[in-house]
Formats: sequence, C-alpha cells, structure tokens
Amino acid sequence: MQKPKGTYDVYGDLGKQIQYIEKVIGAMMEKYHYEYVRTPIFESKELFHRGVGDSSDIVTKETYDFQDRAGREMTLRPEGTAGVVRSFIENKLYGRATLPVKTWYYGPMFRYERPQAGRYREFYQFGVEVFGSNDPLIDAEIISIPVNIYRFLGLKGIKVKINSLGDEESRTAYKKALKEYFKPYVNELCEDCKVRFEKNPLRMLDCKVDHEKEIMKNAPTILSYLNKESEEHFKHLQDYLKAMEIPFEVDETIVRGLDYYTHTVFEVEADIKEFGSQKVLCGGGRYNQLVETLGGPSTCGVGFAMGMERLLSALEKENITFKEESLDCYLFALSENEKEYVAYLSNLLRMNGFSVTMDYNQKSFKANFKQVERLNPKFVLIIGEEEVKDKKITIKNNHTKKEEKIKEEHLIEYLDEEIEM
Ligand code: ATP
Ligand code: MG
Repeated sequence: MQKPKGTYDVYGDLGKQIQYIEKVIGAMMEKYHYEYVRTPIFESKELFHRGVGDSSDIVTKETYDFQDRAGREMTLRPEGTAGVVRSFIENKLYGRATLPVKTWYYGPMFRYERPQAGRYREFYQFGVEVFGSNDPLIDAEIISIPVNIYRFLGLKGIKVKINSLGDEESRTAYKKALKEYFKPYVNELCEDCKVRFEKNPLRMLDCKVDHEKEIMKNAPTILSYLNKESEEHFKHLQDYLKAMEIPFEVDETIVRGLDYYTHTVFEVEADIKEFGSQKVLCGGGRYNQLVETLGGPSTCGVGFAMGMERLLSALEKENITFKEESLDCYLFALSENEKEYVAYLSNLLRMNGFSVTMDYNQKSFKANFKQVERLNPKFVLIIGEEEVKDKKITIKNNHTKKEEKIKEEHLIEYLDEEIEM
C-alpha cells in the first residue's frame, strides 16, 4: 500500500523539526495575544465558492469535492479563511465587547494540484484572521508575525513585498482600465486568462503562464487608481512597518490568488533561487467585504496563511535544524523482579516533570549501556534487588559519570538540584 499522490509521512527528524516550529508558532501567538480557533476540515462546497471566489484557481481546479452519504455537497477545505469567517459569523463573535477579534489557526489543507517541490495535495498552513478593525496598524502587525517567526527560526534573506488593491471604488476603476488595456490582446493570452478577462481581470496579473509576456509587464498598475482613502491606508501601513523596523518593498504585481482582497496584500519570500515560484512562504491581505459576502454584518478583516512545507524546505536549504529535546532519565531493571518498581518510578518521575524512557525488553546490562550511548540521557537509574528492598536508587550522571545511591524520598529533589548545576 502506498500513500496518495502529493501527500507525505512525518517521522524521525522531520517530526522533531515540525514540532519545534509548532511550539514557536504557539508561543509567538501568545505574545501577540491572539486566540486559537479550529474549524472543521470539511465544509459545505458552497462556502468555498462564495468565500474563496468562483474565479480563483483554488475553487475552479483544485478542490476535493465529495457527496456525503446523505447527498450533501462537501469540500475538503483548500484554505483556512472561509471556515474561520463562517465560524466568526455563526458564533456571533462580532458581538463581542472587545474588538478586534484576533484569531489564529493551524492545520491541514487540501488542493488537487500537480505535485512538485513545495506543492502538495495535503499541506499544513498556519494563519491568522483579525476581525473588526480597518486600522492599517493591524495590517502591519500581521505582517510582522511571519517576519518575526522566520527571524526567530534563523532564516536569512526574507523579503516582504506589499501592494494595495484599494477599496471597492478604486478596484472598480482599475478593473475597467485593465479591461480596456487587455481588450486588443485577449487572443494572445492563455485559455485561463481569457476566462479571467471576463470574470475578474485582476486575476490575469497573477497568471503563471503569461507572467513573462510584455503585454503583462506593461499593463496599468493599481497604485495610480487608488482613491484618497485607499492611498492613506497604504501610506500608514508603510509608516508602521518602518516604525517596526520591518524592511519591505512595494511590488505592484502582487494581487494574490484569492478573489476577496481589498487594500493591503502582501507576500513574504525566501531568497532562494532554486525555489522558483515556490519561494513564496506566506501570503495574505485585507478582506473588508468577505464577512458580508458570507452573510455576516459588515465587518473588516485581514489575515495571512503560511505554508509549513515551504518553510521546512527553506530551513533545510539554509541548514537550520533544531536540537531535539534531551532525555532526562533512562531506567532499567537488573531482573524481571524489579520491573514493577521501575514502572512505579517511571510514573513518579514523569509526573514530576522529567522525561523518562526505559528498558522494556529485559535486555542485558551490556545492551542497556549500548542503548544509553545512543539515547544520551542525563541520568541512568539502575534498579536491582537491593534498590527495591532499601528504596535506594543507584543513579549515574551520564555526563559527569558520577554515581550515587539516593533514597527514593529524596530522588526528585536530588535530580532537580543536579539538573540545576
Ligand atoms: P501559489 O501562488 O504558490 O500557488 P497560493 O496563492 O495558492 O500560492 P495561498 O493560497 O495564499 O497560496 O497559500 C498561502 C501559502 O500556503 C503559500 O504561500 C504556500 O506557502 C502555501 N501553499 C499553498 N499551496 C500549497 C501547496 N499545494 N502545497 C504546499 N504549500 C502550499
Ligand atoms: Mg496556488
């Protein structure tokens, strides 16, 4: 039996790497005072059609759709935002006394894409969504989150690219200009772009096929179509980023793959040439209409999502690995007769905060010391007949090689002190 195409298994060092990053993310979200949310992995198909948008690649080509046994149309979530917005509305979080509501999520997403480096059919995203504020300070704050996470993990060469798609009025004016500009060239564009021209010309700028063509490069850009209010928003965002000492560049080609963005859009890239279009580690933006589109009261929103797999590859490329948590105690019994006492001790130690593993297979003394060499615990506890009888444990400090006999009642205290030293 083999795993499905475009998926992967986690074990060994990869598991350690992932668990470390997950810890960093959780700790970072505590510092930012964001609230953890979790929504179902499948939702109604309609949610994604309305939420992500009918002209996005994600919905037109990439969803895993299925009928449940009662014939309901369901979709495995291809992204996190639609579900979080649905939950925000359904649970009436907009009624809270303290706005904005700042949330984060983490979990698997599913897209039927052509599997390749940095692109999987099941992949993990960490993301945030903030509801109830149009303040560009929030936009700057959420941009600082991936930047600080990548910095903390030690990634170098991180690039932040920002752009503004403006408000409804600015975008309408811009779309009109785009249509006029592209009209004479429609036939020269790829099949997808012909559809995008009709449905949402902004999408054309995100095309991976026509990207290099001159007509694309010379297309009018959004920033000259921003109205006063949109211009102000974009300027304040840049001021806040500067104040937070986050280097960025304005890149007018960034429109993002989803339909719902307004004002700020951004991407964070790894500066790794071999990565090609997979160098985008993280992307997001503001979506001031989305809550209303999904049936809630008019509420501003802004968020991003970052892919775990691309982050892992970037760390690998830069040779960044995280040290595994070390093992405190390794226990072994000299004979079957002492195993119950070993079981008792292991429980006592674990409940007092020590990491413990032991010999389960009644190996020889020599085999146990081979095991100790591999696991490199701080302490080795050897339990023989005498130890059980006197409740005095032989403890060897595996690093200093000091060996002592300690009474069970002083064991925890002793280990705590030794670890302090
Ligand atoms: P791309 O343009 O690379 O297809 P996207 O616009 O589809 O990206 P988003 O939907 O904004 O990406 O997702 C945000 C992040 O999630 C991406 O920057 C990337 O790190 C990650 N991501 C997206 N699709 C995949 C995938 N199929 N496999 C692994 N990671 C992915
Ligand atoms: Mg994509």
